[in-house]
Amino acid sequence: MKEYIVITPSNLKKKVIELSRKKYYNYNIKFMSINEFIDKYTFSYDNKTIYNIMNKYNINLSSTLVYLNNLCYISDKLNNSKMILLKDIKKYLEDNNLLIYDNRFREYVKDKEIHIYGYNYINKYYLNIFKDLNYIVHNIEYNNYDIDKIYEFNYIDDEVIFVIDKIYELLRNNISIDKIKLIISNEYREVIYRLFKIYNIPINIKKRSIYSIKVVKDILNNLDDLDNSINNIKEDNIKEKVIKVLNNYSFINDKKEVLDLIINDLKNTYLDEDNNGIKVSTIDDIYNNEDYVFLLGFNKENIPVLYKDNEYFSDKEKEVLGLDTSNELNINKKIEVIRKIHNIKNLTISYKLTDSNNTYTRSDLLNDIEIVKDYKHQYINSNMMNKIFLTTYLDNLVKYNIKDKDLDLLSSNYNIPYMNYDNTYSGISKEKLYKYLDNKLTLSYTALENFYKCKFKYYISNILKINIIKDDFAILIGDICHYVLRCMDDQDFDYDTCFNNYVKTKREFSKRELFFLDNIKEELKFVTSTIKKQSTYSTFNKSMKEKPIYVNKDKNIKVTFMGVIDKVLYKEEDNITYLVVVDYKTGSTNINLKNMEYGLGLQLPIYLYLSNKMELKNIKVVGFYLQKLFTSTLDNSKDYETARENNLRLEGYSTDNENILSKFDTTYNDSKLIKGMKTTSKGFSTYSKVLNDEEIDSMINNTDKLINEGIDKILEGDFTINPKVIDGTNVSCSFCEYKDICYLREKDITYINREEDKDGEDV
Ligand code: SF4
Repeated sequence: MKEYIVITPSNLKKKVIELSRKKYYNYNIKFMSINEFIDKYTFSYDNKTIYNIMNKYNINLSSTLVYLNNLCYISDKLNNSKMILLKDIKKYLEDNNLLIYDNRFREYVKDKEIHIYGYNYINKYYLNIFKDLNYIVHNIEYNNYDIDKIYEFNYIDDEVIFVIDKIYELLRNNISIDKIKLIISNEYREVIYRLFKIYNIPINIKKRSIYSIKVVKDILNNLDDLDNSINNIKEDNIKEKVIKVLNNYSFINDKKEVLDLIINDLKNTYLDEDNNGIKVSTIDDIYNNEDYVFLLGFNKENIPVLYKDNEYFSDKEKEVLGLDTSNELNINKKIEVIRKIHNIKNLTISYKLTDSNNTYTRSDLLNDIEIVKDYKHQYINSNMMNKIFLTTYLDNLVKYNIKDKDLDLLSSNYNIPYMNYDNTYSGISKEKLYKYLDNKLTLSYTALENFYKCKFKYYISNILKINIIKDDFAILIGDICHYVLRCMDDQDFDYDTCFNNYVKTKREFSKRELFFLDNIKEELKFVTSTIKKQSTYSTFNKSMKEKPIYVNKDKNIKVTFMGVIDKVLYKEEDNITYLVVVDYKTGSTNINLKNMEYGLGLQLPIYLYLSNKMELKNIKVVGFYLQKLFTSTLDNSKDYETARENNLRLEGYSTDNENILSKFDTTYNDSKLIKGMKTTSKGFSTYSKVLNDEEIDSMINNTDKLINEGIDKILEGDFTINPKVIDGTNVSCSFCEYKDICYLREKDITYINREEDKDGEDV
């Protein structure tokens, strides 16, 4: 039986296979996309190739892919640094067998008839490959349906509501929902998701990556015990997808080495789509005459998405290499899109002029067409949306004295509690709360601090876990610092390697962020060398880093109080463990204990409390401190280096037993290790923050009491909005991300007046 190769795009493949089964049922046909064919005919690569390039050239994933995707254009026609680098990379890959060649396929295609169908334009690079083969290009025959009007809207929401009205019309006319398709660009996803929900129209709009699932993310923290963490995934289809991703890295035992590649793959692996509801498709899909298609966002910015002269090889270089320039590709792309638009029988086209971020212009692909600008949405499709319209009209009336002509109609039909919103927390039953918590509660210092700052803040952040991360760069800086400081005492520690390797596993950085990272790198190097120097002032010879400590609390559900101490330094002597705890701070710190009774400023007392719970023999706490890693102010009376070193001294509380303190800080008389620590002829100076045994015990007991009280109130389900204003300063709301949710009113604030002890001691 004669064999043929049919090259067709993947979205046409199904249809082409169906047709050829009927017409050419006795032919042996191999179907492939053009990229699959070219990769097999020339060469391809896999994750091992990517990993090796990233390591060899010390570059990130996206740069690696740029190089790999341009390897095929290697030529002697150009001899600049870009070409030399590509040749170098290709030589390295070939020398190490890292490119995949399929010689059998090259042999196989030599005498085959190759039919190319569904590609309107075949670029010069592909044509150059096909020229040595026996190929025939079949052009698609396009319909030429008229487009008589396009709908214009000022705002994206109005455009989507128009489409919803039209969809309702179709559904009322018994058009099946699976015949309705939307062609959209990315800015529509959120708006469609929100509005279709209000109108109760099912749609598949949110592609969810498996990386968004907690149990999948947990695997990344547990790469040493993969089997166990994979077994924790209950759903088979997710498990299969994860295994498939991990199998791509079977070439390496230590999966941590390829962590960023695995993350990238997981992010690009999606959950199976729900097949019910309206489909989102593309202009390249195949539509039949029963389909009703809405092309939204007919804006210059989206249709078509044009090629730019910003690729690895510039247009000028592409001309020398005999490749298509962006201009040539764009001309063909425009022709192709116009053909595809006219090919759809039931097509409704619309565009917007603005959305919440940008302004847009109409695409100029179709001209001399009526533009409809005065579409008036309907009130027959959603009560919920009608109420939203009503509130908008009421807002316009109240705020701007503008009365919409439909206001009377809507207000006579709907009675809404306008301006009657009550922000009071209305409570949650204990039963519901415990069920939601799955009968277990873990409380950390930050969670407890949230609770004491404002119970509602704790509820949103720690119970509902609605986290609004505006800027992850600050968190990343914290992570990098903690990582480097954790490794700095390792035997084979090399500062640059440690810093660079960790940063490499993170996301791509903007130029501005890279500038900051460079500065942080330099600062942190100074920090590590100063900490090493500080250790020479101490006789404490043992340490633990990032030590998690758990304290079980006896309550009616399982409650665990936990904390991770950045550094525990200790010395065992005469059956006693002398110990200090240190927590690194990259941001601002406050070691003031004045507000401890209100549950505020508990950071240091909690470290003291946790250090006392460590599994070490006869613990004697010598001190508990914060270490500020970066400061912006320097003491002008000292030389630059000394001032910087001084800023890194520990801030916190020490024992008042000089004999014991001297074991930790041999310089305690005029300390180079602890801020403010000094002695005079009368004992400790007034700036030294020291505590006697009784005070330390009382602080531990008070902390335990505050932890217990906090837990009891949480288990009562008491999450009232109660931010604190102390001596006129709001200590709760300043950096709170939930300002837009709580609608704070004056009545909610708890005022604490401490004016009377303004001149008092800190402790
Ligand atoms: S803004 Fe203030 S009142 Fe509102 S949740 Fe945050 S801390 Fe509470």
